Amino acid sequence: MKYTKTKPVKSGYKLTKFQRHLRRNPYAEPVRLCPITETALPKFFLQSFNLMAHPETGEPWFVPTGLESKVPDTAAEPPPDAADEPNQSTPKAEAIPSESSESTATEMDKDGTAHAAKLAGSHSHPPTKQNTNNKPRIGPSAYVLSYQPLFQEFERHERSPYKKGYKRLGWMSDHGHNKLGSALNKAQWRADMDAFLLELMRRRVVEGLAHFARLVEEEGRGYVVRCERWDDVFGIKHRGCLLYLGPAEDGQVEEYVPPRLSKIDIPGARYGKVIAVHNLRMVLGEEHQARLREQSKLFREGSLFLLGRQATVKLQMSLWKLQGYIADDEQEAADSGTPTPAPTTTDKTSVGETRDPQGPRATATMNRIDAKRRNVDHRKKQFADPVFKETQYPHRLNFYSAPPTADITLEQFEQWAIDRSRVLAELEACSFRNKTPAETAAHMKPLLDKYLPLDSTSSGSSQLHAQRQKDHYSHFILRLAFASTEDLRRRFTRVETMLFRLRFQTDDSRERAAFVRTLNLDWEPVSEEEKRELAQQLGATLAAGHGGKRGGPGVMDEDWCKVDWTRVPDLVETRKVYLRGGMAYVPGREQQSMVLNAFTKRLEEALELTSRALPNLDEDDRLTPILNHLSKNFIAPDSGYTNAGSSAIEGAEISARNIDNLSQHFPLCMSHVHRTLRRDGKLKHFGRLQYTLFLKGIGLSLEEALVFWRTGFRAVSDDTFNKEYRYNVRHCYGDVGGDSNRRSGGYSPFGCQKILTEHAPGPGEAHGCPYRHFTIDNLTTLLRATGVTDPAVLKGVKEDTEAQRYHIACNRVFEHLHKTELKRAKDEGIMTAAQLETIVHPNEYFKRSYLLKHLDKAPKGERDVKMEGS
Ligand code: SF4
Repeated sequence: MKYTKTKPVKSGYKLTKFQRHLRRNPYAEPVRLCPITETALPKFFLQSFNLMAHPETGEPWFVPTGLESKVPDTAAEPPPDAADEPNQSTPKAEAIPSESSESTATEMDKDGTAHAAKLAGSHSHPPTKQNTNNKPRIGPSAYVLSYQPLFQEFERHERSPYKKGYKRLGWMSDHGHNKLGSALNKAQWRADMDAFLLELMRRRVVEGLAHFARLVEEEGRGYVVRCERWDDVFGIKHRGCLLYLGPAEDGQVEEYVPPRLSKIDIPGARYGKVIAVHNLRMVLGEEHQARLREQSKLFREGSLFLLGRQATVKLQMSLWKLQGYIADDEQEAADSGTPTPAPTTTDKTSVGETRDPQGPRATATMNRIDAKRRNVDHRKKQFADPVFKETQYPHRLNFYSAPPTADITLEQFEQWAIDRSRVLAELEACSFRNKTPAETAAHMKPLLDKYLPLDSTSSGSSQLHAQRQKDHYSHFILRLAFASTEDLRRRFTRVETMLFRLRFQTDDSRERAAFVRTLNLDWEPVSEEEKRELAQQLGATLAAGHGGKRGGPGVMDEDWCKVDWTRVPDLVETRKVYLRGGMAYVPGREQQSMVLNAFTKRLEEALELTSRALPNLDEDDRLTPILNHLSKNFIAPDSGYTNAGSSAIEGAEISARNIDNLSQHFPLCMSHVHRTLRRDGKLKHFGRLQYTLFLKGIGLSLEEALVFWRTGFRAVSDDTFNKEYRYNVRHCYGDVGGDSNRRSGGYSPFGCQKILTEHAPGPGEAHGCPYRHFTIDNLTTLLRATGVTDPAVLKGVKEDTEAQRYHIACNRVFEHLHKTELKRAKDEGIMTAAQLETIVHPNEYFKRSYLLKHLDKAPKGERDVKMEGS
């Protein structure tokens, strides 16, 4: 007992932080050495044995300890099967006993006391006070690596170095005194110890699970939570591990069968980012799985469960130990074609993909371990390779939960992705141009028909499968291309949601309803009776949704559903739902926003997971160039001008002294900041930031930028400039700051979207977008000052800004100021009309303006003023 207990804490002694952490760590147990394999591990992962006297013969036997039942009455539990290979020479007592007489130390001691005392004889380990169960034992504990193949080798392989290795057990504990000599020499070992241990471990796990399930059912505790879908786990707070039991009903189709042990990533989690998934059908075997379901209604009614909370930690550890005990490389057995003996575990079961548990996978067989194959690296090989089946597309809409699985050619891979990115880029351009949903739908229709057609099932088109397959594949290819950076992920989610909304709105209503039903969004339809009962309140909710006016469908015609209110905080905030008893009653028209929210949320999470898997693709020299090309062509407008000089226009003099001259090509946002600087001799922080980055984007070098700002800040002394401003300019260029700032070359110039939506200017500030942040009178004055005096243009700008179409107003002014050049450029075929619509970045405005004004001087390559990212 010397090192088996933690020292009691003296009163008044305060534990250090480290000690507190250590005490909370369930694996922080004393380390013990397995004398057979010489593996040192926390003792939990080793199997302990005591030498005990046989109740009938009095002979010493090795008895496993620590696997005793905690349930007092286990008579109902049937005796387990006998070992795989009954050893005829084994005495009767060796057969695996029933639960009520499991031959762990506990039961055997009851009758073994006298023999124990006899065998103990003069040696030094009589029952002690520390032995709280008052169970005598012979000799101290011995520990063996808890690994089934090792136990098999004790008995099976003549030439194995582990043959009869159990004889070495106990010698170490004897400390070389030979006091246990005769007992150890005579000590017996069960021939079926490996199966016996497995049986005990499984029983204890079943017992633990049934216990917690009972607490859930009877006391409403949250130890085991049933999940309908794999991603339900993301929303649950206390996550320990996931348990997969297979379909709840016979004949139910399994969409995905996880391997014996896999993991699931929890995006955005602070702690427990990765949790284990145990396939209990494989871990426990069919028989124990059936017993578990017999004992527990909770486990009978579902297939996937989350085990969590502190009280279940020991049980989770037992599952780990059991997994370690039966760990094997199934795939290697399949690959090498090794003939496989009868399974120990009746584990004929399916094995699937490891990373994305949402994917349907086909099956493989798990086989018994061949103990000769000991050179297996289990850390690398414990996850089986996926085997795929073809995806079906019963619905037009798709949440893209499962990745595609069939083969396609590289050409298709590239072409489908390009087609989708064209559609997405145009959709994004529509949003930049502030097109209404109706305008966007009209604008996108021909493009969608051309690049990404998607007919409804009722259309009877023969192309349905091909269209849906292309949609499915192209989405996943772009996921790979756009998962690399936060910016791209956000942008991709936004445009994919827009595309999904467009399709959702135009889908056949019956097909749409059928699709929504498949999402398992956990909506409860409101019955007619309940609608009648709450008619007044629901009617008021509908009226509030119509701006206080009555109209639209009546309460009884509306398709109501109810959900937990925490699922729709946005609808609660805008009072578009009726709340009662913690449930939000959502009218049919608002359900679209719930579906869209779910789509966005799942896509964000999936992109997060994809980004973590991206490094695995690095070595693929066929796909990586295509994906890089795709992501560059869809590059965020903000990052197109990162490095000074990289986007400089050839032949243009970009220097501090020439900025005044170049400012005629600046968009209104930047020319206003420039004028303010020249007028006041200083600028406030956000103005400096916006303008510094813009100048960096047009190609002004750091040295020139410092000169420009020093001369521009004529109102301040050298000393003040060096102290307060110089560093900021260098920081923007990535010349100073943290490693990541230096590596990334500082900040990217702001795009219109950022300027329009972030940091609205306050009093005395000059940054922002004048079309958005100026009053119409001030804007008109500013436009006149820059030479825009045409009343038609000013009127158009006024209308645009009033309709919040700021980009349109800016493009209108651009077109007016470059009327002649644009006409010439169009006539000469340098520029297409489509390219003119999409100025979404001040630097792009400058570049296009400069090139148009210098059409004669610009080199041929630079004359194509194609938009970045188009
Ligand atoms: Fe500048 Fe963009 Fe506003 Fe035009 S729309 S003024 S480029 S921020």
